[in-house]
Amino acid sequence: MGNTDLTYQGNRSFRKCGVFKTWAQSAGPDSNPQFFCGLRTDALEVILLDGRQFLYDLEGRPLRNGSVNEYRFRGLSHNGTLARKRPLEVGGGFEKKALTPRQITELCRESCQVARSVHAYIHAGHPIDGFPTSDLATLRPLLEVLAKANRMTPAGLQAQGRRFLEIYRPITVLPPDQYLAFVLQLTEGCPFNRCTFCNLYRDTPFQVKKPDAFVRHLEDAVEFHGDDLKRKTTIFLGQANALGVSFKLLAPLFEILRHNFEFPQPDQKVRPDWARGSTTRFLGLHSFIDGFTGLRHGIQEFQQMRTWGLRRVYLGLESGCQELLDWLDKPAPLPNMQHTLQNVIAAGLAVDPILLVGAGGTAFAKAHIQESLDFLRQCGLPQGNRVYLSPMENTEAGAYGEKSRRDGIRPLTREEIHQQRQELVQELRAIGLQPVPYRVQPFAY
Ligand code: SF4
Repeated sequence: MGNTDLTYQGNRSFRKCGVFKTWAQSAGPDSNPQFFCGLRTDALEVILLDGRQFLYDLEGRPLRNGSVNEYRFRGLSHNGTLARKRPLEVGGGFEKKALTPRQITELCRESCQVARSVHAYIHAGHPIDGFPTSDLATLRPLLEVLAKANRMTPAGLQAQGRRFLEIYRPITVLPPDQYLAFVLQLTEGCPFNRCTFCNLYRDTPFQVKKPDAFVRHLEDAVEFHGDDLKRKTTIFLGQANALGVSFKLLAPLFEILRHNFEFPQPDQKVRPDWARGSTTRFLGLHSFIDGFTGLRHGIQEFQQMRTWGLRRVYLGLESGCQELLDWLDKPAPLPNMQHTLQNVIAAGLAVDPILLVGAGGTAFAKAHIQESLDFLRQCGLPQGNRVYLSPMENTEAGAYGEKSRRDGIRPLTREEIHQQRQELVQELRAIGLQPVPYRVQPFAY
């Protein structure tokens, strides 16, 4: 029996941590490895006595490993990110960067190795301390996931990444509150593909999936995620603007979603765990929209989508300054954006506008802040509504950098973007809106 209790923050015992439904532990001096292995509703976690933590999805695929100061994340597409703690003196938080293919292989190798050692230790009949008992039969749910993790190999995981890219177009951006969503791509690419600051979909021709293609995509995606869907509580409809097509095209696609999944009724209050642990229940559908979506769909159509499960949309407003939008080559004019926002709000949907902090460099800095605030004041957003603040990245690069140079506009420095962000934060709060950071940075889906 392990006689060392593995603990987390503040020396709390893992075995007393309510998040684990079932756990097995062996951390005594003679055990090798010395581990705590706990099954959560949505994942399996292994913690070693040296503090390293390994998280696996319910299909046994590595999700994350590392320890307090540095974590490495693996996405289903076999990409990955490194999150390293920044010292407080330079602002704290985590610095993130993409993992190289070699680092991803290393992450997989370590995670597979740990799962194999724990699996082998338990199955060799060594003593373990477990909940509900140390009897292996009662630990079956935990052992089943551990057995799946034990069967994974770096090469197998790499092959899964290739399969992912047969099912999905690359998932390059999601709203920050949707990183854990189950993504389904109703559409591919962006119908405009011309905003100077955005190169997310440059190589993806725009298309709407036909119902039979969407059914295949959905079935493949469900099969690929498997039990990992128990970790996902919302569905995000990709890519750039899944709702920007005619209602006639959308209705059968929503019908397919409703046939396969269950959503709460629009005014039904449910707790987030209503959906957690299930592969078919989701709290709602979410999507990006563009400023023309409110011209394509009236209030009644948005209301209809709400009864079909749509809950929140994200509008890339970028700025409330029309001159700046023109300079950015953003296709939707402000009156259309306003019309879209108002229709969505009137239909009872939540909408989060996104502002591009630092857009237009020094030439537009003042007008960008002032006119964005004026615009948001007029839109009828409810008090406390979120407004995402997305800072410009790589201002010297691509079409944006070229246009700045051509027009003699100096992009804002990192510090100036930070200052503009601070100003927007203060002013948005003053008008009763809730600023939320939105950073397009490496993330692993
Ligand atoms: S409309 Fe949105 S997705 Fe399309 S190019 Fe512009 S910013 Fe990018």
